[in-house]
Amino acid sequence: MPIVDCPPSDADTDFVLEARELVFEYVPGTPVLDGWSAGFPSGSMTALTGPSGRGKSTVLYLLGLMLRPTIGEVLVDGIPVSTLRDATRARLRAEQFGFVFQDAALDTTRTVLDNVTETALYRGEPRNKARALELLDQLGVKVPPHRKPGQVSGGQAQRIALSRALLNRPRVLLADEPTGNLDPTTSTLVVNTLREHARSGAAVIVVTHAPDVAAICDREVRL
Ligand code: ADP
Repeated sequence: MPIVDCPPSDADTDFVLEARELVFEYVPGTPVLDGWSAGFPSGSMTALTGPSGRGKSTVLYLLGLMLRPTIGEVLVDGIPVSTLRDATRARLRAEQFGFVFQDAALDTTRTVLDNVTETALYRGEPRNKARALELLDQLGVKVPPHRKPGQVSGGQAQRIALSRALLNRPRVLLADEPTGNLDPTTSTLVVNTLREHARSGAAVIVVTHAPDVAAICDREVRL
């Protein structure tokens, strides 16, 4: 597994997603990232690793177009997107990205099934209930789809969030500790699903502390 911790060169044109010299400050004058670069090719699964507090979740939010870098650039298909309008970034995210938050971030007022299918509505498409049910089944989420997220376990919530992120078969999938609450068997289900998605041509980026998850990735980027 190659470790990629050097800046991508301009000759690398096959990155679907790229970070160039990112500086990010939550508090002015206190950079969490200070010139961080990495590139992510299609059809690959990358583990994003490093100690707690180093900035892994922050990197995921920057790559997922939820934060804007203080300095530097995020590129999608080689095109800088950091200064695009909010609405344009939101559309790009809805059409091409899937994101799994560490705490799942489900809407507790809506059913499990509605949580998974709602991303289709952001793209102006009908809810794809059949695919949602297929994903929940593949990920071993054995709860009635009309249950509310308040009545599911943390591990089930994570897999519901992953189903939601995968519904649209996104070109880029970003997941923050997607196996954090899971037993080994369920963790394997999740990892296999992520692997399969990468094999289908997506760039999959996973923040993980789990050595076994990092080990099955194609690449590791350490912060
Ligand atoms: P990791 O995911 O590697 O644990 P994070 O990206 O969550 O790291 O956090 C990196 C640093 O940024 C930490 O020092 C954290 O305290 C700080 N941080 C994270 N979110 C915020 C925020 N909303 N406001 C201020 N500081 C933050």
